Amino acid sequence: MKERTIRALLFDFDGTLTKAGLIDFAGIRSAIGCPPGASILAHLERIADPKERERAERRLGDFELAAAERAEEQPGAAELVRFARSRALKLGVITRNSRESVDRSFSRLKGLAASDFDVIVTRDDAPAPKPSPEGVLHACAVLGVPPAEVMVVGDYRYDIEAGRSAGAVTVLLGGAQEPGRSPVEVEADHRIGALSELIGIIEGIPPPGASTRPSPARRSPSRRDARRSY
Ligand SMILES: [Mg+2]
Repeated sequence: MKERTIRALLFDFDGTLTKAGLIDFAGIRSAIGCPPGASILAHLERIADPKERERAERRLGDFELAAAERAEEQPGAAELVRFARSRALKLGVITRNSRESVDRSFSRLKGLAASDFDVIVTRDDAPAPKPSPEGVLHACAVLGVPPAEVMVVGDYRYDIEAGRSAGAVTVLLGGAQEPGRSPVEVEADHRIGALSELIGIIEGIPPPGASTRPSPARRSPSRRDARRSY
């Protein structure tokens, strides 16, 4: 079987590149009348009265910007980005958050900058938000990388669903239940407790351009081989 290589990492933003728990999802839901567990963006879409929808969008924006003001990077995020760069991997962000909020968060982060990423897709951009695969496919097109050679990394089921639908390798970070969000019950290709664990996973995958013919050392099955195959 031909082994996959990985040419790009596409990250969710909130709770993945930044620390979890900053956005008050329960507060947002209560402010805009969105039932627990339902998609906040889908709820906004369903508000028929334009003025009421605009008011709800403003409230959502207020919560997001308040969280952005307190943004801190996820432990290991800066190291992972540096490692990925050293492997010549492309990097992207795909978020259901707004461009303004992401920009404001980046301005607060010390080890990460928007310029570290080759593509940033927010809900203000054309592709439909996650769990639609559109954002992942758009980012792949921008980066010139096939979805099968991309890892989608996120802390919520929408991230994993979007990545899987696009045909990418999926990585679930944490997956613990957050107040106001439903538990993450989704099967990802990899489950990690910290971003630093991704470095070891990527090191076990052949780099782009490496020969995919088995070397003598890898002819017999081993744990390392199993890890390299998806
Ligand atoms: Mg998230």
